[in-house]
Amino acid sequence: MTLAVLASVWIAALPNWPLWQALLGLPEVASTRGALFIAGFGVMIAALLTVLLAPFAWRWTIKPMISLLLLAAAFGAYFMSAYSVVIDTPMITNVLQTDPREVRDLLNARLLLAVLLLAGLPLVLLWRAPIRRINGWTQLGRNLSTMIAAALLLGGLLFALFADLSATMRNHGSLRYLINPLNSLYALVDLGMQSRARPVGPPAPIGLDARIAPRPAGMLPPLLVLVVGETARADHFALNGYARPTTPELAALGNEVLSLHNVMSCGTSTAASLPCMFSPLGRERYNAGDGHQENLLDLVQRTGMAVLWIDNQSGCKGLCDRVAHIETCNDENCTDDAMTQGLDERLAALPVAARDKGVLLVLHQMGSHGPAYYKRSPASRKPFMPECTTNVLQQCTRDALINAYDNSIVTTDHMLAQTIRWLSGQRARHDPALLYVSDHGESLGENNLYLHGLPYAVAPIEQKHVPMLVWPAAGANAECLRGLQNAPLSHDNLFHTALGLLGITASEYDAKLDAFSACRSR
Ligand SMILES: [Zn+2]
Repeated sequence: MTLAVLASVWIAALPNWPLWQALLGLPEVASTRGALFIAGFGVMIAALLTVLLAPFAWRWTIKPMISLLLLAAAFGAYFMSAYSVVIDTPMITNVLQTDPREVRDLLNARLLLAVLLLAGLPLVLLWRAPIRRINGWTQLGRNLSTMIAAALLLGGLLFALFADLSATMRNHGSLRYLINPLNSLYALVDLGMQSRARPVGPPAPIGLDARIAPRPAGMLPPLLVLVVGETARADHFALNGYARPTTPELAALGNEVLSLHNVMSCGTSTAASLPCMFSPLGRERYNAGDGHQENLLDLVQRTGMAVLWIDNQSGCKGLCDRVAHIETCNDENCTDDAMTQGLDERLAALPVAARDKGVLLVLHQMGSHGPAYYKRSPASRKPFMPECTTNVLQQCTRDALINAYDNSIVTTDHMLAQTIRWLSGQRARHDPALLYVSDHGESLGENNLYLHGLPYAVAPIEQKHVPMLVWPAAGANAECLRGLQNAPLSHDNLFHTALGLLGITASEYDAKLDAFSACRSR
């Protein structure tokens, strides 16, 4: 039991330093009262950890339990301080869905050092500490009394500090995601509850009345390439006014391409954004309601059109489970150039009858996935040098970091232009179109924040403002389309806009959310 209390105090004090750092930075704690509040808060965390550990304070369980908490706290502390991220449910979802090559991107010497310092020393002491063999009833009595004492301490402090605590949490809600390792534990439990609450069995079908709208005479079946971008920021696209030439190939296409300047993401991580983007519900209803239903891909396939998901990242998060899907390559040095190779063969392999009704190809990019941005562009396409070539972003100058990130945008520019060139060659059999939108943005050191995944309500604009493009934007409705350039749009529009481009009607389709419905001549 002594071990449990000691470990709780250690965890509350050291691996929680991102929390203490954040708290000490708040203007309202710069007083004696503030100092007392912080100290009290620390004791509360230790007390809460003791309450949680007490039921496990048995001869064979206490050491493994404490080890687990120590390791979770040390990893949590490193990621929170190195990248200024917080650990919440979507973050843990991302961690669990991550593939090995992404993990390798995150591992480095600093992480090892942090884990050794924060968990290594106490682990050695812990496993060397002798545990006295005592009578089971005595042990139960001790565990219960320690638990009750810690709970009383927690309750007393909660009562005494309630005014300060509630004010601080109301003003700085994201602080609660910094309480280590309770944030990771809470997120895991929350995730467990969510997956249990989710109805088992197949998702509810959508688009049961979906139809291909009659096409004007002479119009060929649609071929829509939907490029799902990764970690691209709208304000780093030259097409959106960025000062550096990050989108030269798309710019060379002139008015053929329309860039929509004012688009917001549904979430701030891949796991949060992707299912929401392909759902008819939109952000608010998706997050509030039952998302356990089919998505855009199922609906399009139901009309008889061909659907294919091509993945160059960590998978489609279950979206493509019921449609054809392939992965381009499993090599971590494989850039998105791999996605545009072999498109002819991939299209030809789709069933002819379905292809003649229409085709939806989804290209899921690796895009600008961090923190190893320098791996996202091939050596031949790095116009901005020198580049940050480590995943410890703080070790690089800001210029080198931005250079590496911007080179990844240049690679996306090439990939999109290459896809458009390929689509142009399909005009004999299809009416081609391309729609590109990123899943979320990225913090690149603004306010000392890095990467993405902050809770939506507190996430900075850099993590939510995403680029979106459509091609072709020339022709009879060009003038109308240009007028949309600054229209406020979001991922909520994607489902309906894609159905509009494919010429599909369904009761789920909402013309008001179809970004281009007003410009369609038919
Ligand atoms: Zn993502």
